[in-house]
Amino acid sequence: MIRDFEYLSPKTLEQALTLLDKYRDECKVIAGGQSLLVLMRHGLVAPQYLVDIKGLTELNYIKSDAKAGLRIGALTTHRAIELSPAMKNGFSILAEMEHRLASVQTRNWGTIGGNVCHAEPAGDPTPVLIALKATLTTAGLKGKRNMPVENFCVDFFETALQPGELLVEIQVPPAPPHTGTGYTKFNIIECDQATVGVAVSMTLDSGKETCKDCRIVLGACAPTPIRSKRAEEVLRGKKITSDLLKEAGQIASQEAEPISDISASEEYRRELVQVLVARVGSQALARAKQG
Ligand SMILES: Cc1cc2nc3c(=O)[nH]c(=O)nc-3n(C[C@H](O)[C@H](O)[C@H](O)COP(=O)(O)OP(=O)(O)OC[C@H]3O[C@@H](n4cnc5c(N)ncnc54)[C@H](O)[C@@H]3O)c2cc1C
Repeated sequence: MIRDFEYLSPKTLEQALTLLDKYRDECKVIAGGQSLLVLMRHGLVAPQYLVDIKGLTELNYIKSDAKAGLRIGALTTHRAIELSPAMKNGFSILAEMEHRLASVQTRNWGTIGGNVCHAEPAGDPTPVLIALKATLTTAGLKGKRNMPVENFCVDFFETALQPGELLVEIQVPPAPPHTGTGYTKFNIIECDQATVGVAVSMTLDSGKETCKDCRIVLGACAPTPIRSKRAEEVLRGKKITSDLLKEAGQIASQEAEPISDISASEEYRRELVQVLVARVGSQALARAKQG
């Protein structure tokens, strides 16, 4: 049962930040409520004040620029990203990822900012954003801060947000030439969270032969999404073959720190990492060759 709370509905970012600064630990921000309301119903979160930011239209936008890349306001819904024509300019992996996130009803209401701030280790957007080298901006009454998305998730359901701060924007830089990115998740129930999620981005050299740079990001394999840096090293500077991708998968499965839970055992998750890194790596390679 949800405990009583006072509902506050600021009309501007400034008003929202003032309320967050005033009520600090006694309040909780709600955007789409798709994750927060579940926690409140279970009594895991019981704020005295609920600050509803969903109406802040100034944080609901997708802006695309050939030089600067993509800027996504924190209150942009999953569905808006999935359907946005801006994703066709080199960011189609974001639309693909969103298409498999939850049901269309949840995607219509849940926001990318809420998902990233919820910091669920099995969430879909964060591994893809890390693979794309995305950054984000937070805002508080004292000003704004920028950081790589990679540094934002600090622990299980915990982020680098300071009290009184909101996530306001996510930036995705344009990918270098000959870059391909892939993402997949294994889940038993369609529209559900990942048992394991894997994102890989790969940049080839000008001859499209050698891997110049790559990122391998694992979801649901540790308290936060993690990069498999030893596996990345296996690929960097080499001509990518299926044997090399299998080797990267094996190393990634050793680097993962999965737990056993109701969805899968630790061993099963390691097996999934091994298979999915090779599979998504091969997809990223094929896309990089087309780029
Ligand atoms: C049935 C179901 C299936 C789902 N399946 C998936 C799935 O397959 N993959 C997946 O990734 N997710 C899934 N989810 C999770 C969910 O879709 C997202 O986590 C959700 O979209 C979060 O966005 P929201 O706007 O609803 O956030 P809310 O629930 O409103 O907030 C989530 C948290 O973020 C904080 N917050 C929100 N916005 C901000 C902000 N701008 N700045 C600072 N803090 C903020 C809130 O205080 C809260 O702690 C599922 C959820 C449901 C209900």
